[in-house]
Amino acid sequence: MRPFRYLIPSVAIFLFASATFAHAQMPPQEASAKAVKFGQLDLVVLHDAQYVKPNDGKTYGLGHTPAEVTKILNASGAPTENITLSVDALLIKGADRVVMIDTGIGGALQQSLELSGTTPDQVNDILITHSHPDHIGGLVKDGKLAFRQATIHMSADEWAFARKSEQAAAIVKLIDGHVKTFTPGAEVVPKIRSVSLPGHTPGHVGYEIRSGNETLLDIGDTAHSSIISLAEPDWPIAFDTDKKAAEANRVSTLKELASSKQLVYSPHFPFPGIGYITPQGDHFKWKPSLPSGN
Ligand SMILES: [Zn+2]
Repeated sequence: MRPFRYLIPSVAIFLFASATFAHAQMPPQEASAKAVKFGQLDLVVLHDAQYVKPNDGKTYGLGHTPAEVTKILNASGAPTENITLSVDALLIKGADRVVMIDTGIGGALQQSLELSGTTPDQVNDILITHSHPDHIGGLVKDGKLAFRQATIHMSADEWAFARKSEQAAAIVKLIDGHVKTFTPGAEVVPKIRSVSLPGHTPGHVGYEIRSGNETLLDIGDTAHSSIISLAEPDWPIAFDTDKKAAEANRVSTLKELASSKQLVYSPHFPFPGIGYITPQGDHFKWKPSLPSGN
């Protein structure tokens, strides 16, 4: 099957898909770029894809019934038949550097980047939260490196995990030699620090972006659905490699983000995925909000 892998984007998307991704519906990918001022930095959220899964108890709320999930979705006025995630990437344009965090699955990313007025060769660094296809798929286009000038940064544990993964093998082969690893907690590029957020994958990290006194935390896949993952953070999700560790991380991270009123970016929350985690009884609620000055 390998020679067909890069024929057309939809084929690529299907073949990159993991077992859990293979059954998802991928509606047409629409390009979109949302520019957001963040202190001295220009952020642009790049839309890549919509990821749709049926509410059938196989992905969200494992061990719970679709009716229980429906109750949560109903309370937020969300559709109950399918659960839709946005798949996005975050571009950070500073005075001397262009950084991208994650790259989507390789849907509309390049068109969204074009809308932002940036060329692929202007991207200096790509920071990866983890090596699932909806975060590293966009590193490759038509069988070649999509960002030829970029250094790809990944935690050492995540790179080791990716190198063992069959579904990542084609991408790993292409990016090998362009990857620089780090230990979680390290400042990966100036003003962007990696934060260990364990469980989703062995080396999963978030990234804290600093501008002046303000910070924004990209939480990666700590939470997936802005509704279900926040209403029931201790419900297992099929995507998490180590479900117990991921649940513990989700609960403690959401608690901390809510109490510190930390500005958050999530690549899977409704586009553009920037806002606050707010307390709601014994759980949490997503409050979309852009930084002041936007
Ligand atoms: Zn993801």
